[in-house]
Order: sequence, then structure tokens, then C-alpha cells
Amino acid sequence: MAQHELIIVGSGPAGYTAAIYAARAGLHPIVLTGTLTSGGALMTTTEVENFPGFPEGIQGPDLMENMRAQAEKFGAVLVAEDVVSMELGGASKIIKDSADSVYEAKSVILATGSDYRKLGLDDEARLSGHGVSWCATCDGFFFRDKNVIVVGGGDSAIEDATFLTRFARSVTIVHRRDKLRASAIMQERARSNPKIHFEWNSQLTAIHGESSVTGVTLSDTLTGQTRELPIDGVFVAIGHEPRNELIAGQIDLDPAGYVVVNHPGTATNLPGVFACGDLVDNIYRQAITAAGSGCRATLDAQAFLEAAE
Ligand code: NAP
Repeated sequence: MAQHELIIVGSGPAGYTAAIYAARAGLHPIVLTGTLTSGGALMTTTEVENFPGFPEGIQGPDLMENMRAQAEKFGAVLVAEDVVSMELGGASKIIKDSADSVYEAKSVILATGSDYRKLGLDDEARLSGHGVSWCATCDGFFFRDKNVIVVGGGDSAIEDATFLTRFARSVTIVHRRDKLRASAIMQERARSNPKIHFEWNSQLTAIHGESSVTGVTLSDTLTGQTRELPIDGVFVAIGHEPRNELIAGQIDLDPAGYVVVNHPGTATNLPGVFACGDLVDNIYRQAITAAGSGCRATLDAQAFLEAAE
């Protein structure tokens, strides 16, 4: 089996930026982009207004398509498969994908990003796709003239709520505190939108409906009192969890499950294995910070490979 210099796992801003730098450095990187998740979280966002270089804003999928094209232009080889297993402990890293291809590499950059955090309610999984969704841009269209709630108080929740007003009759933001975490500009947009209402100090404790969502139970986080709210859809936007399932047990993770790296470097506890993007970042989690850390990961991998020669 041919041994590659570098394999990059993941294809969000971190993975693609790592690929651009690695391809330009002549490392001939293989990028396992994922199948459904190819392009990462920005594939399901709408307009990105804060990525430098695009004063008019750019659609998330267009930004990712540009990054992908830039990586391919310099010779990165993109493989649209999911990784199913990784053995990262040895000098030669072994990675297997969903098409049963096996890759061997001297170094690996992990850029698998994060997944939607779930509420953990019994009915959340049961009614997934039947009124419960984690992706407003994917599913908002199905809620034309319906009444929906969005759970959460961060930028994602406010962005989703604002987006959903294009379709829904009303959007109620259910937040467990009485203060939003979202940025001021996003808050202002939501507060001035007549279709958006707020249920403060409220926690979702149950979702009702046989074949599709018909209502929810809300619990007051201060008094514990519960109340029922008839509703057609539930959008969950309460943050993300690092996608570490393939590496847990073989690499150091912090208590929240993020890969531990030698900040500001990207080296993990395993020689030749570097990590970047949302997989290591539970604070900033921006496209631009992920891209920056993807760049650092390749520079670190390059130094590692040069030192090993
Ligand atoms: P986030 O900032 O972590 O906010 C998560 C929200 O969900 C918080 O309001 C939190 O409540 C609430 N929450 C967490 N767990 C909960 C639970 N079990 N039950 C009920 N509520 C729960 O996550 P995010 O909104 O996904 O944003 C992640 C990052 O992406 C942030 O850095 C954000 O700025 C960025 N982002 C930026 C944009 C943009 O600029 N356009 C858009 C989307 C996201 P508390 O507030 O009480 O903790």
C-alpha cells in the first residue's frame, strides 16, 4: 500500500484550508470529505456576512464550493466518502473509508467539526423528520404558514428563527434564560421582526404528536410550572458537539469531548496527528477561525514531516 504524506479528514473551512496549504506545499493531500456532510456545517447556512473578503456577503454553500475548488486547483485529491475507522497510534496511520478503501499516511489532520447538540428528549428522535428538525435551512420550506418554535438563545437560534419567518406564520423562540447569547445585531433583527415571539425562562420538557408534532410542554425554569403550547414544528438550535466518535479512546479529549491540542499549535498527543476547526474549539467556532486553524494544522504537519525526513 502506498504511504501518503498527509490525509485530511473533514471538509469544512478547516479541512479545505488545510488542503489548500498542503497541496501548495507539495504534500499531495488526500481529503476524505464525507458523503452527506461534505462541505461541513456551512452547507446548511444561508448568507455569511462576516467572512472577510466578501463585503456583500456570500452564501455558505458558495463559500465552501470556492474553498473546494481552490483545494482541487492545487492538486488536493478529494474523496467523497465517510471515514469508518482510524488507527492513529502508530508511525503509519491507517484510515478506512465507507467504500472499503484503506489509506496509510505519515500524518493526519483531523477536521471533522461538530454535530447538532440534541435536547435528549424521548420524543425528539421519534419525531425527527416529522416536525422536529435541527436544520432550519434544510427543512424550513415544509413549514409554510405553520407555527413553529426554535429552542436556544445563541446566534444559531436567532439566525434560524429569522430565516423561518420566510415560511412560517409565527416563530417562537424558547430560551432557558431571560437573556440571549446571540450577537447584538442578530438580536436586534429578531426583536424587530413582527413574526418572532419569545418564551423566556422556558425549557422544553416534552414534544407531543403521534405521526407529527402537534405541541410541546414548556417548563418555567424559575418556578418549575409547566404549560402546553400547540405547535407544528420544533427547531432545535442549542449548539454543537465535537464529532469525535472515531477517535475517542485513542486520542486525548477534554471533558467536553474536544480534542486536546498544544494551543496555539495543533499537535495532539499522538505524533503526526493534528487537529483543527470545531473539533478543537469550544469557544470561537467561526468559519474564519476554523480556516485559520486549518492553515496552522498544515504548517504543523509540514514541520513534522520535514523533521522526520
Ligand atoms: P451557542 O452560542 O453555544 O448557543 C447555544 C444556545 O443554546 C445557548 O443560548 C444555550 O443557552 C442554549 N442551550 C444549550 N444547551 C441547551 C439545552 N440543553 N437546553 C436548552 N437550551 C440549551 O451555540 P450556537 O448558537 O450554535 O452558536 C455556536 C457558535 O457559532 C457561536 O460562536 C456563534 O457566534 C456562531 N454562529 C455565528 C453565526 C453568525 O455569525 N451568523 C450564526 C450561527 C452561529 P444559554 O445561553 O443559557 O447557555
